[in-house]
Amino acid sequence: MSVKKYDTIVIGAGLVGLSVAYHLKKKNPDAKVLVIEKEKDVAKHQSGNNSGVMHSGIYYAPGSLKAKNCIAGYNSLIEFADEHQIPYELCGKIIVATTPTEVVKLNDIYERGINNGLQNLRKLSSLQEIQEIEPHCTGIKGIHVPQTGIIDYPKMAATLLSIYQNQYGGDTAFGERVIRIHNQNKGILVETDKHTYSASNMVSCAGLFSDRVANMTEQENDLRIIPFRGEYYKLSKEKEYLVKTLIYPVPDPSFPFLGVHFTRMIRGGVEAGPNAVLAFKREGYKFQDFNLKDTQETFSWPGFWKIAAKYGRTGLGEMYRSLSKAAFTKALQKLVPEIQESDLVPGGAGVRAQACDRNGKLIDDFDILKNNNIIHVRNAPSPAATSSLAIGKYIVNQLNEQEALV
Ligand SMILES: Cc1cc2nc3c(=O)[nH]c(=O)nc-3n(C[C@H](O)[C@H](O)[C@H](O)COP(=O)(O)OP(=O)(O)OC[C@H]3O[C@@H](n4cnc5c(N)ncnc54)[C@H](O)[C@@H]3O)c2cc1C
Repeated sequence: MSVKKYDTIVIGAGLVGLSVAYHLKKKNPDAKVLVIEKEKDVAKHQSGNNSGVMHSGIYYAPGSLKAKNCIAGYNSLIEFADEHQIPYELCGKIIVATTPTEVVKLNDIYERGINNGLQNLRKLSSLQEIQEIEPHCTGIKGIHVPQTGIIDYPKMAATLLSIYQNQYGGDTAFGERVIRIHNQNKGILVETDKHTYSASNMVSCAGLFSDRVANMTEQENDLRIIPFRGEYYKLSKEKEYLVKTLIYPVPDPSFPFLGVHFTRMIRGGVEAGPNAVLAFKREGYKFQDFNLKDTQETFSWPGFWKIAAKYGRTGLGEMYRSLSKAAFTKALQKLVPEIQESDLVPGGAGVRAQACDRNGKLIDDFDILKNNNIIHVRNAPSPAATSSLAIGKYIVNQLNEQEALV
């Protein structure tokens, strides 16, 4: 059987993989590129099940990959969306402190935003100033972030695919799961459950399975994906007036999630969430979803038990909020006191691929591991949707550096 040969194989058709494929062809239209995706379509996991927010870059440590790629990605996203008619709106958001302790952390976030070069951030120094923007929100102090927006990420993914396939002639293999990779002198052999392909370069953007794909080529992959489900409620139609734009709490700086918030969605409606609940199945979108292998992999990772010891209380609280609508409502009432349990209808869920090391450190920054002609995106949590165009460009430059060395 003949093996089809490519210059580069990209694993995963989420926003990151699609952006890599798009940039490879944009840079060199003659390059032979193949995207392999186990699902039948794009954005079936994180890229299609998220909050739909274009993050401004306010939260991230200056100089980190997150800070650089979020801001560059945000600017590219706007350009791309304008050019290809992807619905988006720069509606702005507020971050609200409801306790004196949170006010201290809020000031740190403001300083970070300034250090990251964000313009026109505004401190909201009283309840009145908060309510001028969000009349039903409560809090002591806040920050208005005018850059934050909302966008249609599934449409963005579909557009990237369409340009890659139809304009640039890129190849795709949907419905094929990568099961083995052989890195040989002559090139890389990528085996799926249906075919085998060969390539000179490979980029893995496998999201929730990025560690398993990394283990196929790397002897010492010291990161494991711990899946955290984020569940949403929606505000009932009659109560959507309670939220005009986006309302966020002050996040716990030691925890890589932003806390339940309110997001107006570009396709209409207002979502409340997501929480962060340990998932017993990597692609498990419901509380009862369970997969033995996924769960064993979580529990057998030494770092997991260190996280459990460190964040046990927070984790149990999230689990409780997942089971108790009353508890979820209470968390939301901290920001919008008028919200009642009866105003919330069940929404969807997404599962975050959060990398964790052996010592129990939840990896905060993006992690992109390059080993000669193979690149693994091992950690691309939020804001990787916002950053996807910048991450793709960054990876293509990394691959070209390799070519230049050869
Ligand atoms: C609840 C939630 C809310 C979020 N909110 C935001 C937000 O508002 N703004 C923001 O910027 N970011 C947000 N994020 C983060 C963002 O969605 C992700 O960081 C981003 O989508 C990651 O894209 P990806 O391409 O790396 O992963 P994915 O979209 O998960 O894509 C990975 C792909 O790889 C495929 N794959 C895996 N293994 C294999 C294999 N062996 N063979 C073939 N294919 C394989 C999968 O099927 C999948 O399609 C959120 C995430 C979640 C979960």
